[in-house]
Amino acid sequence: PKPAWNLFSREQEVQVGKEAGAEVEKQLPLLKDSDPVTRYVQNLGARLASHAPAPAYPYTFKVGNQTEINAFALPGGPIYVNLGTIQAADNEAQLAGVMSHEISHVVMRHATAAATKQMLAQAPLSILGGLMGKGIGAQLAQFGISFGVGSYFLRNSRKAESEADLVGTDILYDSGYDPHQMAVFFEKLEQEGGGGNSRAAEFFSDHPNPGNRAASVSKEVATLTPKKYQADS
Ligand code: ZN
Repeated sequence: PKPAWNLFSREQEVQVGKEAGAEVEKQLPLLKDSDPVTRYVQNLGARLASHAPAPAYPYTFKVGNQTEINAFALPGGPIYVNLGTIQAADNEAQLAGVMSHEISHVVMRHATAAATKQMLAQAPLSILGGLMGKGIGAQLAQFGISFGVGSYFLRNSRKAESEADLVGTDILYDSGYDPHQMAVFFEKLEQEGGGGNSRAAEFFSDHPNPGNRAASVSKEVATLTPKKYQADS
């Protein structure tokens, strides 16, 4: 899939993501950069990001010190993975699956595309085009748009989820991981959660199940040359 039409330039996207990241980090307790878990996630993230479709974004990976199972990506590259997500994974490919899925939301520019849609509903393109040139932060505030914790624009549609699964499948395959493990992990979390009062509730609120997840991944994998996937590092 190709990213939808978007009012934000890539530079603006990186800038709003950085600003939102600074806000997120005031609210989300993080493991230190020197923590071995953070270093492991950053190494894994760099490996996956090196197989993300061009253009390259300045991806960063940080670990939320929380037992809730959650992961999210901000526009332009900042990605946060909770400790609970790492603990819930049965193997490295499952964690790599969540992270590839998040990288794919950045690649597909899903958050800023959703914001673009809202801005177009509020003002004609002829006005928006001029506004976007003048200090992006102030303009977004005027439209009530922010990308921090709980942002409406980080809640993905089912279509966005399908796209992130598809792009994520290719990133996993190119990085040497079994892409099926991404769908296996999502389905495992969903089954364990069941009745709504789940540690993964926020994750599924932001990443709704697009349906037939495993079948879609298998269909994409069938188009790729079979290879031996790598085991846990
Ligand atoms: Zn998602």
